[in-house]
Formats: sequence, structure tokens, C-alpha cells
Amino acid sequence: MVYDVIIVGGSYAGLSAGLPLARARRKVLVVDAGLRRNRFAATSHGFLTQDGSTPEEIAADGRAQLMDYPTVDWLSGEVAELAASGEGFAGKLKDGTAIAGQRVILASGVRDELPALPGLAERWGKQVFHCPYCHGYELNQGQIGVLATSALSLHHALMLPDWGPTTFFLNGVFEPNDAQRAQLAARGVKIETGLVERLAGDAELEMAMADGRHIPLAGLFALSRTEQTSPLAAQLGCALEDGPMGRFIRTDEMRGTTVPGVWACGDAARQAGSVPLAVADGNMAGVAAHRSLMFGF
Ligand code: FAD
Ligand code: MG
Repeated sequence: MVYDVIIVGGSYAGLSAGLPLARARRKVLVVDAGLRRNRFAATSHGFLTQDGSTPEEIAADGRAQLMDYPTVDWLSGEVAELAASGEGFAGKLKDGTAIAGQRVILASGVRDELPALPGLAERWGKQVFHCPYCHGYELNQGQIGVLATSALSLHHALMLPDWGPTTFFLNGVFEPNDAQRAQLAARGVKIETGLVERLAGDAELEMAMADGRHIPLAGLFALSRTEQTSPLAAQLGCALEDGPMGRFIRTDEMRGTTVPGVWACGDAARQAGSVPLAVADGNMAGVAAHRSLMFGF
């Protein structure tokens, strides 16, 4: 079957993109590999009506509501190839299943490349985070660490005092100048110049320093580098942009990419994402793809 729209990625952005199309009784195929970016976190915060739900609950609610519409099909798996073909697009899943659609919406997200500190990866989303709005409140104004991973971490360190007393671990990665030191002091940020060795502790997190000190923390914030989860945008020829955290798909205000017939939404198509922004972007992409089916480009 040739679908009206193929949506790559069935998480917050992709599910939201499907809804306006489903409600216009368009034939939609959602393909999802099931690896949501926030799958490491116990709870998700900041999305109105779902504040404190688990990431799985939000996705499951969304999927159940979308799949209630009879014109929507779902495939679990990974789209491996997609290319322009005739009036639309054709490709296949990793398992060989062929797919075809008139329009494509990329909602495939990004993956995080984490700082190499031992003990960090297994605590990602639990005691180590990148987004203070998502997980800062639950630290109950306890001691917060910010690990410098690049010059961008200065901004992170300047934000975090709103969530708790903050120590900025420079770790030899970043050296603030006098003006930056004054900014940090004005926000009450403590600077720790020693090298960090690893994260330790179980219920109580500790930063183990190279000099043997253990500094107790309620939570640690660290910026990751992000990379596109899927190579499809590049395969299709969509322009990508370099953001400070990583590459994202360039889109216009209707979430159209530089390739006609392809839209992109959610983390894959923005510098920094969240569940509510992914849902908003998805809605715009779904409406825009539908508009092109009715009226052309
Ligand atoms: P994702 O949720 O990452 O979903 C992309 C989907 O596409 C995945 O299911 C993936 O498997 C699939 N996919 C990728 N490639 C393919 C392919 N080729 N074929 C088929 N499927 C494919 N945001 C908040 O608002 N609140 C929070 O509390 C919060 N906490 C977070 C905690 C952590 C630890 C992290 C890392 C992020 C957190 N975020 C939070 C951010 C949030 O996870 C993202 O903004 C959100 O997941 C973006 O949604 P998305 O639909 O764009 O992408
Ligand atoms: Mg619910």
C-alpha cells in the first residue's frame, strides 16, 4: 500500500504528527524503533497534563489514542532506507519490509553522546541530567554539581543555582575569565578546580575527586553531544545545521525540510528539545504535510 504519510519515529513528535492526519482520515504509517531519548528517566516533567508521568506512560497514552483511528498503521522496527520515488517516497525497514508513501515526516530524535566520566552513564536520567527544567525541582534544593564538558557549560552553571546550591566542576576542561568568574560569583556558584575521577555512591551521589575527596551531591548536570538517531535525513538530502550541542535538521516555520515532501519535528529538528516542544512541532508537521496533500507544495 502507498500511504499518504510515512512517519519515522513513533514517540512524542511522531505520534503528535499522526493525530491531525488521522483525524483527516489520511492513511498513515508510523514506524518506530522504540528507543525514546528519555527512556533512562523514571519520570517526565514539564508537559502539561502529564507532569510526573513515566516516559512510557505518555508514549503509551499517545499511541493508544492515535491507533484508535482506523486509517493509521503501526510497524515496530527501524526504517533503514528511504528515497524519492515517482510522486513520493519508497524504502525499507531493516528487516526488509518495503514501505511507500507520498509524504515523509521525520520524528526520529537524537541520541546522547555522554561525557566519558566513569559512573556517569549508568546514572544518566536518574542522578545525572542535562535539563534543569525536567529534573531540577526533584533535587529538593540539595547540593547540585555541574560538570564542565565545554565552554557551553558556563551557561549551565549559571542557571542551576535556581534549583539548589551549585558547584561548577571545571575538570581542566574550561577556564573562566575574570568577567565569567564575576558572573559565577554573582549567582553564588562555587568553583571546584580539581580533576574529577568518577561518580560514586548509591542512593547518595558523590563526586570522587582525583585528590581523594568525595563531594556529596543531590544531582549532577552535564551537557551531552547529540547526534541524529537516524541517517535518513542525510540520505534524503535534507540540509542539517550545526548547533552548539549537535546537528539538527533544518526546517522552516511549518517544519518543512529543504527537501519537498519531507517534514521533520521534535528533537531531530531543533537545537534543544523537550516533550512539549516535540508535541507542538509534531502537530505543525502533521498539519503541514496534510496541507500539501490537499493543495500541493
Ligand atoms: P524521541 O522521544 O527520542 O523518539 C524518537 C523515536 O524515533 C524513538 O522511538 C526512536 O527509536 C525512533 N526512531 C529513530 N530512528 C528511527 C528509524 N530509522 N526508524 C524507526 N524509528 C526510528 N523532556 C521533557 O519534556 N521532560 C523531561 O522530564 C525530560 N527528561 C529527559 C531525561 C533524559 C535523561 C533525556 C535524555 C531527555 C529528557 N527529555 C525530557 C527530553 C525528551 O526526551 C525529548 O525532548 C523527547 O524525547 C523528544 O521527542 P521525539 O519524539 O522528538 O524523539
Ligand atoms: Mg495518563
